[in-house]
Amino acid sequence: MQVESSNGVMGGARNLLRATVGLVYPTLCFGCELRLSEHGDDDLPICSACHRRLPKGTPDHVLQRLARLPEAGGVFNDVFALWVFDEGGTIQRLQHALKYQNRPKLGVRLGRVMGRALMSQHHPLYDAVFPVPLSRRRFLERGYNQSQKIAEGMVEVLSGSPNIPEDALIRTRSTKSQTNLSRTNRWKNVSGAFEISGPLDLTNQRVLLVDDVLTTGATLTAAALPLRNAGAIVDLAVFAVVAV
Ligand SMILES: [Zn+2]
Repeated sequence: MQVESSNGVMGGARNLLRATVGLVYPTLCFGCELRLSEHGDDDLPICSACHRRLPKGTPDHVLQRLARLPEAGGVFNDVFALWVFDEGGTIQRLQHALKYQNRPKLGVRLGRVMGRALMSQHHPLYDAVFPVPLSRRRFLERGYNQSQKIAEGMVEVLSGSPNIPEDALIRTRSTKSQTNLSRTNRWKNVSGAFEISGPLDLTNQRVLLVDDVLTTGATLTAAALPLRNAGAIVDLAVFAVVAV
């Protein structure tokens, strides 16, 4: 009885705290920064007007990127990007929050939105979803892998009940930040940096490789090669692609 009443008090205090935090820090739209009045737990922090304005990604946006990376030819069976990256805009602010502001749940929500959009275009049955692994150092800095969070949201809504094989695709060495490297050097930096850990037979398995933003595609391609070499048919999904 005592425990129940103490939970009740604590629960009440938590709700009050949440309500107070909601008043002090209302959820603002990542686009226009207006307060979001009807913001459910499952919604992205973007108002409907800003959402409609986001530039939609197409397979061509991704393929044009990959075409500039000779190594990527034929690695991917199908490609999906929800949006085109908008430097300084809503999508970049989302990416920044996801990577640097400790917002793992934002990744899960993004994953659900991506999964639903992908399913509305075609209906692949996936056997497995692989997030691009982070280096150990970045994982420790960030506390989570943003691609893993996106993958977790995606598997909730994708057909085929895919799983996320734990520690199956691994980063064998840490790589320099790709930000200031040329396209050629980006490929040299990540080539051979991923491998399959342990015996994993992916023969004819349809798998989805997931990352946040596709810039040159070097990292995604390097991560896809060991999956393809293990027999998988590899698709890729990102929430944004940087236009060529
Ligand atoms: Zn807005």
